[in-house]
Amino acid sequence: MCGLPLPARVTIVEVGPRDGLQNEPGVIPTDTKVRFIELLADAGLAAIEATSFVSPKWVPQLADADAVLRRAKASRPAPRYAALTPNLRGFERAVAAGADEVAIFGAASEAFSRRNINCSIDESLARFREVAAAARAARVRVRGYVSCAVHCPYSGDVPPEAAARVARALLDMGCYEVSLGDTTGRGTPAQVAAAVRASVDAGVPVSRLAAHLHDTYGQALANALAALQQGVSVFDASAGGLGGCPYSPGASGNVATEDLVYMLSGLGVAHGVDLAALVDASAFISRALGREPASHVARAMAGQRAAAEASHQAHEGGQKQRKEEKEEAAAGGVEADERRRGAAAEGVRA
Ligand SMILES: [Zn+2]
Repeated sequence: MCGLPLPARVTIVEVGPRDGLQNEPGVIPTDTKVRFIELLADAGLAAIEATSFVSPKWVPQLADADAVLRRAKASRPAPRYAALTPNLRGFERAVAAGADEVAIFGAASEAFSRRNINCSIDESLARFREVAAAARAARVRVRGYVSCAVHCPYSGDVPPEAAARVARALLDMGCYEVSLGDTTGRGTPAQVAAAVRASVDAGVPVSRLAAHLHDTYGQALANALAALQQGVSVFDASAGGLGGCPYSPGASGNVATEDLVYMLSGLGVAHGVDLAALVDASAFISRALGREPASHVARAMAGQRAAAEASHQAHEGGQKQRKEEKEEAAAGGVEADERRRGAAAEGVRA
């Protein structure tokens, strides 16, 4: 790729069960959420953000966070399970339910912070410092998110230095990894690359950066490539492109995991995910939600499967028809023979 050395291997953090499902208007049964996570684990996803421990009063969809995490972990112990924990109470619930790691977030935009969590960036960071300290004490890893790292729905483009400042603050409070989020999905590749470079310049090693890219303007995959070319090797993604943002009107889901996996395979970058099994997982959740997956690769593969299935049936049907025709012809032959014999017997030439 243009002579740029790409990371040999990428870690995908599957955020569909949290970032995706939290935005669904209808309440999804716990069984469906758990089954979705099981299928994702079966597809080889090694890091799954399973849910968010917010107050059920604010997000009723996530009232079953404890049960989802507990059951998923018991049924598929292999992946590393993360949960979003906006406060100390959420952190305690997440740890009690068995979260392997927790995630906290700060916004790079002052306007977004005030509108979204009702406080300034610095106030929000102070609040998360509490969670980070509790996590350190409990030996639970903490991941940080920088939301609106390139664009804010209220104040427009976000300077890379603003994203870098929050990334550095999250690192300093003990986050092992910081995920730069294009929350609104309006960023373009040069902006994403600039946010990564500014964060590295601010002292956040690229090995500790991740990218979280929504696809609202169709830029997510291009933005992922831009981050990859800057050396980022951890990507958040959501199966079937699930998701949106309740505070960011019109925002669509994260980069679809299938599309990211397909691109990485094509680039020769290892990712450890079985694409066909992943398409099964997104087909399952899409059926449960009653709509098509937003992933191009999932739709293409579903189309190919349907075509293969139809041609298989046509082939079977064709064979059956040919067999019937042969039988008919054979029967017709017998009849003709009998007619010939009859005619011969009566001295009539057929
Ligand atoms: Zn997101």
